[in-house]
Formats: sequence, structure tokens, C-alpha cells
Amino acid sequence: MACKLAGTCTQCGRPGLQRWLGLSRVPLCATCYGLRALRTDIKLLLQALDTDEHREKDVILEENLSPRVRLLLTSSWRLLRPEGSAAAVRCLSAASLEREAPRLRSLMDELDKQLQGMKGIPPAEPGGFDAG
Ligand SMILES: [Zn+2]
Repeated sequence: MACKLAGTCTQCGRPGLQRWLGLSRVPLCATCYGLRALRTDIKLLLQALDTDEHREKDVILEENLSPRVRLLLTSSWRLLRPEGSAAAVRCLSAASLEREAPRLRSLMDELDKQLQGMKGIPPAEPGGFDAG
């Protein structure tokens, strides 16, 4: 049974692949996907911060963040060595994420502007696409 993953990018019409954006799966090319994926990541991170999800845990482990977001937060990492563990892990305190929030928000605004400039189609939101 052949599984055809390729499709046409819903934003620019170039050949694209089915990709996850938040909770929706949409055909997008690499360019359109990159900007939207980054925007979605930042949005989810800021939402989590707003709902205090991170504050309860106090620190956020690197492994719980997407590779894109990890790059954005490079300057905020600190090393944590869990008790009884030989290896240190990189983590981020909720307080330093809080400090990064304004920068993340302005980056998201910038991404919005770029996405709006592309074909005038609004950026994808989770659940905003038909399943077909
Ligand atoms: Zn595209």
C-alpha cells in the first residue's frame, strides 16, 4: 500500500509535505512550514507561560522544548545536575523564560508580518484547516 505524503503547499502552491502545526496536519513546503512552525512553537511556549504551567515545575528541561525554541533561548540555559546523576542537563528556569517573553512576543509579531506578506493568507492556527 503506497502512502503518498507529498501534496501541494496550501500557502504558496509549491510541492510540499504533510506537516504538523500544533494539532493540525497540513501540506506545506519547507519555507512556509519553517516560519509557521517557529511561530506555533513560540505561541505554545507563551501560552504555557501564561497558564503558569512552567512555574509549577520551576525549571524547564531542554528535552521538553522543540529544537527551534531551544535555539531561540540559547542565552538562557543553565546546567543542572540531577541528584544521583552523572550527567548534567540543560534547563531553563521559569523566571528566565519570563524575562525572554517580551523578546519572544516581538519575534512572533515579526513572523506574523512576514507571513502576512506571503500571499496575504493568514498564518495557520491549530484546527483552522479542513481535514481533507
Ligand atoms: Zn509554501
